[in-house]
Amino acid sequence: MYGLATIPIIRKLDGLCKQVWYADDSAAIGKIGQLHDWWNKLAAIGPAFGYFPNPSKTWLVTKQNHHDRATNIFAGSGVNVTPEGRPYLGAAIGSREYIAEYVNTKVQLWSSSINTLSNIAKSQPHAAYSAITHGLLSKWTYLSRVVPNLSHLLVPLDNTLRTKLIPAITGRPPPNSVECDLYALLARLSGLAITIPSKLADKELHHSLTVTSSLTDHILAQDNEYGYNIVRDQQLKKREVSKDNRNRQEDTASIHQQLPDGLQKAVELSKTKGASTWLTVLPLSEHGFTLHKSAFQDALALRYGWTPTRLPSKCNCGKNFNVEHALSCAKGGFPRNVKAQRNKRYHSIPSHGSMQ
Ligand SMILES: [Zn+2]
Repeated sequence: MYGLATIPIIRKLDGLCKQVWYADDSAAIGKIGQLHDWWNKLAAIGPAFGYFPNPSKTWLVTKQNHHDRATNIFAGSGVNVTPEGRPYLGAAIGSREYIAEYVNTKVQLWSSSINTLSNIAKSQPHAAYSAITHGLLSKWTYLSRVVPNLSHLLVPLDNTLRTKLIPAITGRPPPNSVECDLYALLARLSGLAITIPSKLADKELHHSLTVTSSLTDHILAQDNEYGYNIVRDQQLKKREVSKDNRNRQEDTASIHQQLPDGLQKAVELSKTKGASTWLTVLPLSEHGFTLHKSAFQDALALRYGWTPTRLPSKCNCGKNFNVEHALSCAKGGFPRNVKAQRNKRYHSIPSHGSMQ
């Protein structure tokens, strides 16, 4: 409704400079004189449409060499003028230094979030895993889509994920670079979907630019007609998705090749249909999808062929106990005294991750 209701005011401002509106957030770009005319007209006609532009919340971002002239022209308007930059719809516009500083501030904030999550992961790895893959990751994914060339600025996030969060979730030492690549794969392709922020940034930007290109063209041309070709755009998206899928398959194959033999076998198994559902599903306790620490880390151990920690040395049948034996023992593979407890603990893991 808001979008529709602002169309008349947008049309009245047509031709003064290039504008782009997002709900009540109006923006314009052009020469300083044009922007001044645009601002004056917006301030004059806005109230009749119920739109009250607030100069103290309005910023003019100029190039360094136009700053003085802009300050003079906008003197008395109440509009803030800066040669540095400003945040804009979750991104930043302005000088290269300003944008780098903006991204760095975000990265610091997210690094501290990852640290907090790593502490939670020490006792609640499943919940922490879910919070990163279903929530936190999308923050830098969004930024990668709207700010170009930021991959080098995201490296601190790579490091915090590798040295803090992944060890806390898996209960193992920090992964090496091939293991990081493996965990970055989608769960259904044998990964953990914990992507590597700096490696993904350029790809995300490319996807975003591609699928929004027709919208960008309309904004640049200041097209008033809604000439949005849905069919063409859907085809474009589909092409991008299938290209991406092909690349993912190739990446997966090349990462698998670099893994040690035992692990290769394990990850091939984890690619089978349904073998990763326990990882991707939201851990809702009402459906019994939550795994406590040992169950979650044991399931990861089976997925990646690691020996689970705290295994008993002898089985109920008298033989030595290990994962292989647990899966093949005629007596069920559980030492008598812990069997009941284990059965209870494992009831929510699907058969692939189960030791029953
Ligand atoms: Zn046995």
